[in-house]
Amino acid sequence: QAKAVGKGQCCFYEEEMTRAAQEKLHLRGRLAQALEREEFRLHYQPQVDLGTGRVIGLEALLRWPQPDGSWTPPGQFIPLAESSGLIVPLGAWVLREACAQLGRWRERGSLGVDLSVNVSARQWEDPSFPEQVRRVLGEAGLPPERLVLEVTESVLFSNPQGARRLAQGLASLGVRVAVDDYGTGFSNLRQLQHLPIGQLKLDRSFVQPLPGGDKDQALVRSAVTLARGLNAAVVGEGIETEGQLTALRRLGCTVGQGFLLGRPVGAEEFEARHLRP
Ligand code: C2E
Ligand code: MG
Ligand code: MG
Ligand code: MG
Repeated sequence: QAKAVGKGQCCFYEEEMTRAAQEKLHLRGRLAQALEREEFRLHYQPQVDLGTGRVIGLEALLRWPQPDGSWTPPGQFIPLAESSGLIVPLGAWVLREACAQLGRWRERGSLGVDLSVNVSARQWEDPSFPEQVRRVLGEAGLPPERLVLEVTESVLFSNPQGARRLAQGLASLGVRVAVDDYGTGFSNLRQLQHLPIGQLKLDRSFVQPLPGGDKDQALVRSAVTLARGLNAAVVGEGIETEGQLTALRRLGCTVGQGFLLGRPVGAEEFEARHLRP
């Protein structure tokens, strides 16, 4: 009897697992198809100089539009794209598309904005990545100084030696590296010191409680101090209120990004709102 129950449970779990695995497989197929059919889109979110209020950069954010007009947020498909390896061609598409877009904007006179592109672990671990970046920049006619590649702390420090080699390869091209979601992972400060870092992007969980209390402010101040020491800019992420904006400015954060300053929007809308106001 006990055996029968055990067997039943076993089958139940197996069924569940099979369903999850099938859904995953299905989603993976749809991702590959969407890439092939060029269905992905990029949205762009402004980065604002908190001293002057001017738009000095933009971050490209991946969007997957669905037939019903909605879109699937990147958090729901990037992990699967990573584990299936599809992130490599997808990430290459993002880089090409975003660089080509900035190239077009530059031709129309917007010379003063930088482009930030998110880079996944798989791309970052590819030794030929700097060469790929160099080629894409050449094709888009972009000066390397205009490109910032965003990597999270965990990716940066999972293989510190590799990261150092790669960051130096990119730095020798003139491309900057940003530490994304700074403060949520485990930055190894000693190793950070040896990396050519252009930006620390302070995670929105540090911005959200602002103006907050002494302790909330101390965390921001420490990131600002570290960034100064590294000769990097601090970008406050996820700014939604005037109170957060004022506090960040007062604490020495130089650049901001968030819904208050501009939501991520398609290229046309971005141009209308932020490049030709
Ligand atoms: P991220 O790089 O940290 O990007 C910032 C995320 O915060 C974006 O979410 C953006 O829409 C959101 N955000 C910006 N301002 C605010 C705000 O004021 N409040 C709130 N609540 N959220 C704000 P999104 O577009 O859903 O992207 C999520 C993550 O997916 C990104 O986090 C990044 O890690 C990843 N991602 C997006 N595009 C790409 C890509 O092309 N390649 C790779 N590898 N990852 C990407
Ligand atoms: Mg980012
Ligand atoms: Mg971030
Ligand atoms: Mg993030």
